[in-house]
Amino acid sequence: MIYVHVPFCRSFCTYCGFYSETCSGEGGIMEQYADALCQEIEARQEEIRNHSVYGRNTIYIGGGTPSVLPLSVLKRIITALASAISEVPAAGRDSWKAVAARGFVSGWPGRAGTGWSAKHGSLTGVTAAPQADGHGCYDLEEFTVEVNPDDIVKGGLEYARGLKELGVTRVSMGVQSFDDRVLWWMNRRHDAQDAVNAFGILRDAGFDNISIDLIFGFGTLSGADTWEDSISRAIALAPEHISAYQLSIEPDSALEKMLDDGRFSEADEDLCRGQYDLLCRMLSEAGYVHYEVSNFALPGREARHNSGYWDHSPYVGLGPAAHSFDGKRRSWNVADVNGYIAGSEREGEALSAEQLAIEDVMLGLRTASGVSAGHLREIAESQAIDRLISSGGLVETDGVMRIPESHFFVSDEIIRELL
Ligand code: SF4
Repeated sequence: MIYVHVPFCRSFCTYCGFYSETCSGEGGIMEQYADALCQEIEARQEEIRNHSVYGRNTIYIGGGTPSVLPLSVLKRIITALASAISEVPAAGRDSWKAVAARGFVSGWPGRAGTGWSAKHGSLTGVTAAPQADGHGCYDLEEFTVEVNPDDIVKGGLEYARGLKELGVTRVSMGVQSFDDRVLWWMNRRHDAQDAVNAFGILRDAGFDNISIDLIFGFGTLSGADTWEDSISRAIALAPEHISAYQLSIEPDSALEKMLDDGRFSEADEDLCRGQYDLLCRMLSEAGYVHYEVSNFALPGREARHNSGYWDHSPYVGLGPAAHSFDGKRRSWNVADVNGYIAGSEREGEALSAEQLAIEDVMLGLRTASGVSAGHLREIAESQAIDRLISSGGLVETDGVMRIPESHFFVSDEIIRELL
């Protein structure tokens, strides 16, 4: 699993707490960023190749807003990645045991649901280092790029086709709402019609795997009718995947300041719960599978890359503020594009066996697949487990413990009670 962070946005959204810089593309900052990123890719080539070959073979370019990058810059990045993934060491491909022995992996391969040989996509359209067997590209399970509707509308079919030609197989588009008043309040730089137009452009370019993001949890701005209308309009587009997040107050966001100044008040929990229940019901009736607290997919269209985070697979994170996890240790790049360009060192911390086990459970319980009941009983108090089973907050079936959909909304409280 490879994640690339693009730390640029054209403007800031009211609610956002991600690391990003506003950028118009002037001053060559994007090219400098791409130079530094290509250097990092080269420096971490072996790590990238091992994670791709022996773990989930996915790439996710997120941000920030990757679609602010011109296709030429994206092509440089993707070419560097293709080269790193395809590079075969002089001694030939290592066995996975040799890789595991060096400490890159924990529990690979053979982790349920992974498989580097799946061939759903490929890094085509870029010049990759040829492999020993003569193939010029490396097959990927999934290659996602996040986009803003405004960039797709402005770039048109040419930009969308360009993404496709670079090997992108899945697009994740931040729509957030189909109500223009809400979009204006969020300081999004597109309106609802732009989102619909952008979706059509992506389809025309041949993308058959599109995810859209929505946000709920507003008191004053998003009454039930507005939210219901947004869900209906999302369903009408028939995306393969929908992510829906409850609005939260992120540190240093404009929303936090508005809250402090008394210009915003959080919606009460009953209202948020009602909106979440409506979302679950409408998406279920439309055929979407609720496979993670905030994620819904048409059958078989679950996000491969993000599912890797929830089953605690290792990943390599590249770019400013990107985090990496090798199965034992987490590390991160500096959250500052200038510091990154100047070559700041990555920081990190080793995780104890207990921390890893707790993270396994915290991540797994957010999914419909749940976690091993034996594993949960090893780290959680049996009284808490029994209490939650009798209240319906946990369900045990065939050695698996999971939170039922009816309790997904309070999954954080349930996990806190267990751990
Ligand atoms: S929500 Fe996305 S587009 Fe908006 S500021 Fe944050 S990263 Fe940028």
